[in-house]
Amino acid sequence: MKFGGTSVGDAECIRRAAEIVARAARESLVVVVVSAMSGVTNRLIATAQNLAQGKRDVDDLSTTLRAQHFAAADVLVADEARQSELKAELEPITGEVANLCQGISLLRELTPRAHATVSSIGERLSARLMAATLREIGLNSVAVEATDVIVTDDQYLQAEPMMDRVKERSNVRLRPLLDDGVTPVVTGFIGGTVDGVLTTLGRGGSDYSATTLGAALEADEIIIWTDVDGVLTADPRLVPSARLLREISYNEAAELAYFGAKVLHPKTLRPVVQARIPVWIRNSFTPDKGGTKITAVGHPTEHGVRAITAIPNVSMITIGGPGIVGAIGVAAKTFQAVASVRANVLLISQSSSENDICLIVDSADATQTVKALRSAFAADLVHHDVEHIIVNSDIAIVAVVGENMRGTPGIAGRTFSALGKSSINIIAIAQGSSEYNVSFVVEAKAMQDAVVAVHDEFKLDQAADVGL
Ligand code: ASP
Ligand code: MG
Repeated sequence: MKFGGTSVGDAECIRRAAEIVARAARESLVVVVVSAMSGVTNRLIATAQNLAQGKRDVDDLSTTLRAQHFAAADVLVADEARQSELKAELEPITGEVANLCQGISLLRELTPRAHATVSSIGERLSARLMAATLREIGLNSVAVEATDVIVTDDQYLQAEPMMDRVKERSNVRLRPLLDDGVTPVVTGFIGGTVDGVLTTLGRGGSDYSATTLGAALEADEIIIWTDVDGVLTADPRLVPSARLLREISYNEAAELAYFGAKVLHPKTLRPVVQARIPVWIRNSFTPDKGGTKITAVGHPTEHGVRAITAIPNVSMITIGGPGIVGAIGVAAKTFQAVASVRANVLLISQSSSENDICLIVDSADATQTVKALRSAFAADLVHHDVEHIIVNSDIAIVAVVGENMRGTPGIAGRTFSALGKSSINIIAIAQGSSEYNVSFVVEAKAMQDAVVAVHDEFKLDQAADVGL
């Protein structure tokens, strides 16, 4: 069971989460993975970055984090002796924050390794709070540092677990605890190199921690407890009639995670696909609701479409001009330039006339990406072979997702005629050959209308999976 930041956001939430664990632990062996209390990771990173830039008037994070976690400890643990024991576990970690901050501000630099260490503090604190709370309600529980268990490469901020080693370590560190009736509470988000240097799995990475451990331990199921009921057919802020999906496939969930439905970290499902371990998304605030179950097969519908997602705040970059028609290596050069600034490409489209290549990146990456492209194509720009590299930031991507769209004719046709009927102009289109997803680009101001039009067209507000 993994609990996200809001699910352990304060003492009351932690207690609620602990009760969920306790209930499950009566029937099964449970490993808990926790995120930092909500907002903590952001604060840690912001402070570290400010200090690295030489700013002096940053808040004293060590003190505020200590106060926040001590306050939770006061509520969660009744007995004074046990309270001081817990505080004695928390104290040195908040003390580390002070040292790290001092180091960063003296050096005025934030190396990836230091960045990882600072940003991991929240999980190291919350895991101890959770373990103490579980002990408080009668379980045997200990906090476990994932640096000892989730062995990764040394990309400190986007570390990749090495599954074989994680398996080995899980069997050494976690299995004996479970055998002894102890519920381990593992720090999410964190890993460690073979040499034991702390790494992180990327922002929002606790989901990935949970599925990595679940796969390593051959869990029966993995439950991601969060603050939403599950995966919906669309963002309810855009489509009020959006409906909860009771069961979706790994592919659908991965596609939705990638395309903006911020329910899961995009890598979450990778470790479980092969072993076909089901992953649940459930709301820790309403644990009696069922949630969404993610499985190998999902719940196919007649027309195949399961959900619509929209991504605002993206920019379309177009590289065009007669010089690229039939030219070899333009695409390679383009994507090499994009990769050099580590921009994440959300969509690519090139028509067969080869007049231009268009790609979409996060707006935050747009300026850097264009700069890299201009320098990669500097010579061509001088010779006017590449006539233009232009950016349009006034757009949004809308993606229609469904595993069984594959081989179902007419989906694209219905999608685009629905858009036509609503007078929505389509700027670009892409469909991967996996056919799990048809994506199109519209003007930002038409995004909501586009989502509503397609949601209506496929009647996604009507339950196809009732009775599951
Ligand atoms: N606390 C980390 C973050 O905010 C990891 C997570 O929440 O999953 O990115
Ligand atoms: Mg989080």
